[in-house]
Amino acid sequence: AAVRTLPDVRADFPGLTTDWHYLDTAATAQKPQAVIDATVKAMGRDYATVHRGVYARSADMTLAYEAARRRIAAFIGAREDDVTFVRGATEAINLVAYSHPRKGRVLLSMLEHHSNIVPWQLAGWQVDVCPLTEDGSIDLVAAEKLLTPEHEMVAFAHVSNVLGSPLDVARAAELAHRVGAELLIDGCQAVPRLPVDVGALDCNYYVFSGHKLYGPTGIGVLWSNKLDALPPWQGGGSMIDRVTFEKTSYAPAPTRFEAGTPAIVEALGLAAAVEYIAQHGIEAIRAHECALVASLREQLARKNSITLFGPENSAGIVSFAMAGVHPHDIGTILDENGVAIRAGHHCAQPLMEHLGVPATARASFGLYSNQDDVTALIEGLARVERIFG
Ligand code: PMP
Repeated sequence: AAVRTLPDVRADFPGLTTDWHYLDTAATAQKPQAVIDATVKAMGRDYATVHRGVYARSADMTLAYEAARRRIAAFIGAREDDVTFVRGATEAINLVAYSHPRKGRVLLSMLEHHSNIVPWQLAGWQVDVCPLTEDGSIDLVAAEKLLTPEHEMVAFAHVSNVLGSPLDVARAAELAHRVGAELLIDGCQAVPRLPVDVGALDCNYYVFSGHKLYGPTGIGVLWSNKLDALPPWQGGGSMIDRVTFEKTSYAPAPTRFEAGTPAIVEALGLAAAVEYIAQHGIEAIRAHECALVASLREQLARKNSITLFGPENSAGIVSFAMAGVHPHDIGTILDENGVAIRAGHHCAQPLMEHLGVPATARASFGLYSNQDDVTALIEGLARVERIFG
């Protein structure tokens, strides 16, 4: 079937003004009015706690919270009982790294975000590193050689937040499972850009943050088909079955991992975001961002001063360097032109070291990005070239 084309949705996003070119969606996405409205309603007229109330408002809010879980689960092809609400990808990875009963060797890749490196180190795992291919994708041929039966875990990004490189998750799962390891996928940059069906991917854990998916901050998802095998992580209210001073028993997953009053408003906001994306179709979003990436890469490749990083098939994200100009200077000058990009190490210092640069300039797209944004960036870069002569 033909992929639908995206209509111009910019009017849905109050954070996008006509004279501003927002190219930092990989850091965090702007919110559609539907998400803002859902959170205002949840925090206003409908507000009450969940899971405790004997009064109608709280019972309604509990139903809405669980409906949000179902909506988000359906979006990634999951069973609702396999979806735990967490604060974000960072918390999800910490949860798995800390609560996993066997903290052995974990294979990470050179392009991981710090949030998929540091938790493993802190929780006492032995970290091995998979190299990248020439074009900046995780090298699965090398992964196959590195993996041993000693590996308990493989943890890779589905899409790199710096290079946009997409991973063949099914192949990574095959390699991990062949040696008896589990596979955790950091889906932060993938869920907003590609169709994700966790059942088909064959991984064991899939994590993402709501705020990169056009939803609120403070909410994210840990999906796992092994949640029942994980002991509790944080203790507190709601996660228990029965508490005595002698012995406490715990609720089944996912409740067991949601200690304390959850991010109720944020969960409802994220469900509204998923609904909004589904209306437009993730395939249409993917095609739209692919066209913008192709156009930007082609125009950047024509500039002698520019080095492009990452593969041709980058999903929505383009990193580059300009000879003789620090990325921070690029970012500052572009800002004067009303173009917002990210300049820095993007929480991926090992990758910067591998690329041999202190930082990169990064442009990233969302469903509201358009050719005007690309043109403004290219014009802004011409100004940077003039200033630095
Ligand atoms: N992984 C990737 C690939 C990311 O892009 C990010 C956010 N930059 C994270 C993990 C961490 O997400 P959060 O800060 O929302 O927990």
